[in-house]
Formats: sequence, C-alpha cells, structure tokens
Amino acid sequence: MQNDNSNNERVIVQTDADSLNGQNKCPKCGATDISTNPASGKLRCNYCRFEFDLEKITGMFTNLKELSGEVVGSGASDIIADTNEVVTFKCDSCGAEVVIDTASASQARCHWCRNYLSVNKQIPNGSIPDAVLPFAVSKDEAKTQIEKFVNKRKFFAHPKFKAEFTTENIMGVYFPYMLVDINAHANFTGEGERQVKMYFKGSGNNRQTYYDADSYYIEREFDLIINGLSVESNSNRLNNNDNTKTNNVINAIMPFDVENAVKYNANYLKGYTSERRDINVDQLKDIVNVESKDIARFAANESLQEYDRGVCWNREDFTLKGEQWTSAYLPVWLYSYQQVNGNKKILHYVAVNARTKETMGSVPIHIPKLIGVSIIVEICGIISMAFIDWDYNFLFLFAGIIFFIFMFIKYRNNNARHSYETETKKEISNLRKVDKYIATKKGLTNSNMRSANNERVNGANADNKILDSFSTENLSKNIVNSITSNNPLETFINNTINKGGK
Ligand SMILES: [Zn+2]
Ligand SMILES: [Zn+2]
Repeated sequence: MQNDNSNNERVIVQTDADSLNGQNKCPKCGATDISTNPASGKLRCNYCRFEFDLEKITGMFTNLKELSGEVVGSGASDIIADTNEVVTFKCDSCGAEVVIDTASASQARCHWCRNYLSVNKQIPNGSIPDAVLPFAVSKDEAKTQIEKFVNKRKFFAHPKFKAEFTTENIMGVYFPYMLVDINAHANFTGEGERQVKMYFKGSGNNRQTYYDADSYYIEREFDLIINGLSVESNSNRLNNNDNTKTNNVINAIMPFDVENAVKYNANYLKGYTSERRDINVDQLKDIVNVESKDIARFAANESLQEYDRGVCWNREDFTLKGEQWTSAYLPVWLYSYQQVNGNKKILHYVAVNARTKETMGSVPIHIPKLIGVSIIVEICGIISMAFIDWDYNFLFLFAGIIFFIFMFIKYRNNNARHSYETETKKEISNLRKVDKYIATKKGLTNSNMRSANNERVNGANADNKILDSFSTENLSKNIVNSITSNNPLETFINNTINKGGK
C-alpha cells in the first residue's frame, strides 16, 4: 500500500483556541452549574434552564476533496509522557485556589463558593479531545434497552447472573475515538463472473448442479471520500480479542452520528465518566489504512452488481491523498458484569449507543443447561432424519451442535462488530469502468466464483471468521473436517467458534 503522506508534514489545527478555562457562566443568570440535557443533547443551565446553542469545531477541513497530506486536530496530537496533569486556577468568584487533576476529572467545584471550574484548554495527556458527541439518551431509556436485551436471553443465562442482574448501576461513559476523514484514490483490476445458466445432469443420488458463466476483465478506478471513520483510541478498548472482557460489544454499537459532534466543553462530562485516550495517530495508521481500503473495496461493489458470481481482484492500488484526524468522546451507556469461573474472569458488557439506542451485549451462559438442551435437540434431529427426505438431511446429525452454536452466539455475541466497511459514510466520484468480455466458462460446479475476494474484510479482527463460517458452504466444510478428525465435536466447535467457547 502506498501512502503519499509519508514525507508530508503534519498540519495541526488548534481546536481549543477560544476555549476558556475556569468558570463557564450561563449567559442568562451567571450560574456555573451546567450539564447536558439528554432530551436535546444540548448544554443546559441547571438553575434557569437556559439551553446553549451547540458550538461546532472550527478550523478542520470541510471540503474533503481538497484534503491533502496529514491534518490533525490539536486534541488528537501526540500524548506527552511527563505532562503535568494538575492544573490550579484562581476562582473568579471568591479568589480561592482550585486544583483539578486532569488525570481523573476535567471539572471541580470550588470548596468555598461552590462554583464549577472547568479545564477546556487541551493538555497533552489525552484527556481533552477536539470534539464531543453529547449524550442524547437518558439513563431510564438506556435501562429499558438493557433490560429488553437481557430479558430475551434469560433461558440459558447463568443462574448467578440472573439473580444479580440489575440496571441500577449502569454508567454513562465517554469513550475516546479518533474520527478520520480520508481523501483517497483507488484503482482495482481483476476478473468477474456472471451466471448465464444453471442446469442439472444425472438423476437420483447422482444428480449434479452445473453452471455456465461469462467471465470479464474488470477495472474500477475512482476517487473516494470517507467521512468520520471511527476508531477506538484507548488501548483497553481497541483489543477486540481480549478474552477477559467483551470489548467487541462496545465496538458493535457503532456507528455514531459523528457529524453532529460539537466542540469539546467540560460541562458535557458532568454526571458521566470518561476513559482517556492513550493512543496516538501514528499507532492507528495501519488500522485506518486497512479499513479505508476495505471501504474502497465495498464502495466498488456498488458498481459490480451484475457480477453475481463474484469478482476476483488481482491488483488493488489504493492511495491516501489526504487524511484528517479529530479526537472525540462518544457516549455509551454501559452495564457490566464480571463472571468468575475458577481463576477465569470475563467482564460481560451490555452497551447502548447513547445517540441511536443501538444495543449489543454479552450474557453469561449456564453451559450445563445449554448442553443438556442441545442433546435433546440432537436426539430429535436424528429421529427426524429418518422421516424427512431432503438432500441435506445429514445436517440433522448436527442439529444439537448447530443449536448449541446459535444459542452461544445469541447470548455471547462474540462475533458482533461494527461493519465499518458498509456503515461508514463515503462518496465515490470520477468512476472509470472497464468491463471486457473474456470467455464463457461451461460446466462449473460451484455456485460462486471460487477465487472471489471483493467482499473480503481485512480490517475486521479474527472474530469475523465466525460469521464467515456460518455460510452454509463453510458450515458443511467444517462438518466434513470435523468428521475426519479424531475429536469431531471439539474440532467442529473450534472451527466454528474460534474464541471464548471453552
Ligand atoms: Zn442560567
Ligand atoms: Zn470560589
């Protein structure tokens, strides 16, 4: 992959130029007790109820077609290790000294006059971002969402979890993300296939399905704008393969309406907790490159729909002409539950997107109960096999295992993730297409082009192998692999659920 920016200088946009430290007063009554009204997502004075207008960040590129090189919001600039995190202010009202340790808070109340003092100027410790997307879902709405989610997963839930489950102590958390805008150019070349005919040969058990397909040489070259690709920027959250916590759940509630993010102000954080950014732009570049290229591949698919058997790209050139990084806090309601099993601990989350209410979670399973019911399903499956005439009735042999896996995934959602490749805002322009007929292939036995790679997602972590394995073709392949191995059940489960299943 090429990256035009490697020699370019980083341009830093100062996003906190007119931010004020100290007292932020209500323009109507002068009070300093200001917090988010989740009904509107706007700041509101807690005394006179005056609502503030949302303030946009200024200085960042808006015409992304002109974006070149590397532009970074000052709140996304590199963290400096030995930053002094303690800020001392003189209170405007009484003159007392107020100390704020920015490692844990961005606001403090004056001990003497009870006014609030805030840190809004950025400090290079990752605690103050460029932007914030305010909470727009109330705690009660979040509770309802979480309860609905868990209630659908009660039957196989672990009894201890069922006894202890309560949404009383859910927390509103601002998680740190990098929002990345991209101006890129893509040039893909390869081969695609269109089905022209499907027919059968033979009869009875020897009946085979065949396909004829036209194959084409294809090129797709285009400019691509990606808007607000969101990447976790806390090292704890970025790791979706961490076996001790179900981070992927938090990843899966994306996307957020990041276009509505506003200029950072400490008042938005009142009543919520936040996790600090500890990752810099350079450390996220590889992820962003791979994910942007995935987005480009899916963008190209929109002009490839007639290739119903798939497309195999032989060459994928992808050039980043410009990239723009903004750091932001995004709002999440979080329920967490620690399951302890011997010396193994798993932190299960149920997370609610505090903008869209999208909810995802992981519920601890009572494994003996699930195995018991799966065995009953297995027995019923074997009995049905004798009565039902179906080409694939051998699948009934695996009814219990299939049931186990579906339930496991329904409760634990260890395959859930944000489909950034399709859900990120993007815009294609200057599309150049070449579609040249090569030949008609006859008597193919596969319903899809075997080497097709136009729906490949490279940036998604290994979790998505689970999803892939659920295509029927892979499922039967897994079954065959399992039968031929020494420990069929374990092999099948390992092949199908590649993590967390044990
Ligand atoms: Zn007021
Ligand atoms: Zn004071």
